[in-house]
Amino acid sequence: RYFLDRIERYNAQLNSFITVTAEIALAQAHTADQRLQSGKADWLTGIPMAHKDIFCTQGIKTSCGSKMLDNFIAPYNATVVEKCQAAGLVMLGKTNMDEFAMGSSNETSYYGPVKNPWDLQAVPGGSSGGSAAAVAARLAPIATGTDTGGSIRQPAALCGLTGLKPTYSLVSRYGMIAFASSLDQGGPIGLTAQDVALLLNVLADFDPRDSTSLAHPSEDYQSHLNDSIAGIKIGLPQEYFGEGLSSDIGQVLDVAIKELEQAGATFHDIHLPNTALAVPAYYIIAPAECSSNLSRFDGVRFGYRCQDPTDIIDLYKRSRGEGFGAEVKRRIIIGTYALSAGYYDAYYLQAQKIRRLISQDFAAAFKEVDIILGPTSPTTAFNLGEKTDDPVKMYLSDIYTIPVNLAGLPALSIPVGFVKQRPVGMQLIGNYLREAQLLNIAHQYQ
Ligand code: GLN
Repeated sequence: RYFLDRIERYNAQLNSFITVTAEIALAQAHTADQRLQSGKADWLTGIPMAHKDIFCTQGIKTSCGSKMLDNFIAPYNATVVEKCQAAGLVMLGKTNMDEFAMGSSNETSYYGPVKNPWDLQAVPGGSSGGSAAAVAARLAPIATGTDTGGSIRQPAALCGLTGLKPTYSLVSRYGMIAFASSLDQGGPIGLTAQDVALLLNVLADFDPRDSTSLAHPSEDYQSHLNDSIAGIKIGLPQEYFGEGLSSDIGQVLDVAIKELEQAGATFHDIHLPNTALAVPAYYIIAPAECSSNLSRFDGVRFGYRCQDPTDIIDLYKRSRGEGFGAEVKRRIIIGTYALSAGYYDAYYLQAQKIRRLISQDFAAAFKEVDIILGPTSPTTAFNLGEKTDDPVKMYLSDIYTIPVNLAGLPALSIPVGFVKQRPVGMQLIGNYLREAQLLNIAHQYQ
């Protein structure tokens, strides 16, 4: 009730929820109370939470931030939703997001932009901006997000939170509406590394319904939080600290680095030479996959259908034309172009080769260091409307997060300070399945 009251009071201002599921929350809370009384509670039983509106929730609107799915009631639960329910978490509602998770500011949502609780003039980041704003404003203690090119870490950074993108395939994608399937990964957004570890314990598991799901023995992500970090080797990629990074952010990171040094970590300069190619490669691969994934929205099986179509072609054209927003259309056009005969070799194949080079950069770095540290985002939260006219400017906000998705690595963002009262995030990147180590360092820092 406390959190539902806060949502009632502040959501109109922040726009962080698309759907509030108050009745379901109270019923789930009641069940959780009974579980607590009978001694069958898990760590998070009774803890309220919010789901990004990209996760299918049975019987509840699942819009993915799009007019296309404004009328879509999911007939089943995503695995992530199912797992949270089984652990006794209480669902408060579904959070706002960029349309089909395409964006870095939450301004492409059909439901309007989300405001950053630290400064209502500023964006919360995207695409999981509704989840981040909800947690930052204490409308929910914790939330789920998804990260295809930075959409958990960047809004966490811009809202002063801890957000983790797990190793690709650690968290099931079943029932998570697909944007770019080889990059999409769900994960937790919370206040602290410990909160994030607790939710990751619930989310990470093999799922036979996701063909890419990883059969990884279950881990307790809390168990290493208090380990000493003395002797941990941390790499500082020179490409992440050069031109493009706001100098104020560099200074805040320097202070954080010194603190980790005092805790016994050692720092080493490293190189990730193909970093500059990550954004261009991503903006071929992600649109290519999105153009294929979004072909299912044809106005026939589910979602938006145009009025009075004259024939099947008119039905497809107008349903898609009217149902998708501008950014989604831009991606579909880029993707179909890049995949078309005659251009495939020039674009898609080249981008895949760059993707391999970027993975190799990380593999080489992890021979020298345990963890890589850098900024999460080149700037703090920018103002609403500041980048909406210039897609490339917007795309560059993910310059430090995108390489991680291309390589499938785990990474988290933790809050390390403020510049002009707007939060600064620091990114820690780990080798495959080193979530526990990332959370350990984050917890020791915090
Ligand atoms: N901002 C990036 C994009 O627009 C990443 C989004 C995401 O991670 N879902 O594609």
